[in-house]
Amino acid sequence: MTEPRLRIAVQKSGRLAERSLELITGAGLRAIRGANELLYRIENHPIDLLRVRDDDIPTFVDDNVAELGIVGYNVLKEHFPDKDLEEIIVMRLGFGKCTLKLAVPIGFDYQGPQSVAGKRIATSYPNILKAWLSDNGITADIVEMRGGVEVAPRMHIADAICDLVSTGTTLEVNNLKPVELVLKSEAVLIKAPHAPQPDLAHIYDMVVRRFDGVTKSTG
Ligand code: ATP
Ligand code: ZN
Repeated sequence: MTEPRLRIAVQKSGRLAERSLELITGAGLRAIRGANELLYRIENHPIDLLRVRDDDIPTFVDDNVAELGIVGYNVLKEHFPDKDLEEIIVMRLGFGKCTLKLAVPIGFDYQGPQSVAGKRIATSYPNILKAWLSDNGITADIVEMRGGVEVAPRMHIADAICDLVSTGTTLEVNNLKPVELVLKSEAVLIKAPHAPQPDLAHIYDMVVRRFDGVTKSTG
């Protein structure tokens, strides 16, 4: 019988990819390229890395395809707006920090959430925005866009946007100003509903313990 292997879903390329791999390497797991680009093997432990798009990570982990996953809290929340995420999150990882902000054109006379009531708001995070609008007791039209959200007001597709911000430069060059913090995010380690399976419990515990050590030492 082949030895069972623990699977960790990580972003293949993008803003979380490098730091995720640093965490893994920092935990003493030696990653080498596997059969293809999708799969990396940890050569010194029975662990595989599933390298996928970040958007697929919550579903893969929820379906028990991977026991663990590293994903932005923003993506997790958007996928599971109604779930108790504290049951899924094993730990916060301290990198990939960003904020989801409501932003309006520089000339927009913003007086508070009610200023966007009845307006069109472009976002890639319709569920999170919907919750924020409802928390603030307002309704607005949500224009869902996969990317390029920051150009929506200029193209008269929307009156405002709700988008991820880290430095604010993108907003500035698009003549937008942030007006509300909608969600604070960072990378989180998440676990599958069935994890850890008894035959993988030992290796699962080791990974979690080591990630915790690395995360604490890097602040
Ligand atoms: P993929 O190809 O995997 O779907 P993506 O283009 O959706 O990638 P990235 O831009 O690589 O996503 O961002 C991944 C995550 O990095 C975000 O979901 C967020 O949690 C985090 N992040 C940190 N800073 C930023 C930022 N300034 N803008 C966008 N995301 C950021
Ligand atoms: Zn993505």
